[in-house]
Amino acid sequence: MFKALDLPAEKAGGGENFAEVVRTRFKVGSKTIGVFVGEPVEVYTHWEGEYPNSKFAGVCTGENCEQCQEGNKARYSMQINFLTTDESGTPRMTIAEGPASFARALREKEELKGEGFFDGTVIHINRTDKTAFAIDDIKPTPELNNLQTILAELQPFDLKAMYEARINKQLNNADTSTTTPY
Ligand SMILES: [Zn+2]
Repeated sequence: MFKALDLPAEKAGGGENFAEVVRTRFKVGSKTIGVFVGEPVEVYTHWEGEYPNSKFAGVCTGENCEQCQEGNKARYSMQINFLTTDESGTPRMTIAEGPASFARALREKEELKGEGFFDGTVIHINRTDKTAFAIDDIKPTPELNNLQTILAELQPFDLKAMYEARINKQLNNADTSTTTPY
């Protein structure tokens, strides 16, 4: 009966279609060990109010973003897949997210050490201040010793697709000018 229907593709749910996300946030004073995987993604979000009491006001939707047009400058952050261990020492893939100062510190380290430095390298990150990150390569911990095997089992998140889904979801939600009668 319904076989011949030419249904539109299902909407991306902006989250629910993706594997459960665990984030690594590098709080001030924290020390984190892990390995960066794949390429970083640059994310722009809008916030209302002043730090630290600012409230999330949505992702920046790009060229025609209303919040940008209203003069609310988008905040930059960088995301990248980050293999680390949970409390029990089990390796898990997370999304590392940090501000521009974090991205800058990583770029400076890479410039110093050379292209490819971060590939398969176990890193120790010490956030000593809001904008200060000490980044060092260390000997692999026992949990992260067999990187190739671990990485063959743990899928990285599709960060680009996730960001696009968030933007699309927001654009769809904001669209109140629909002429659909139901
Ligand atoms: Zn914007």
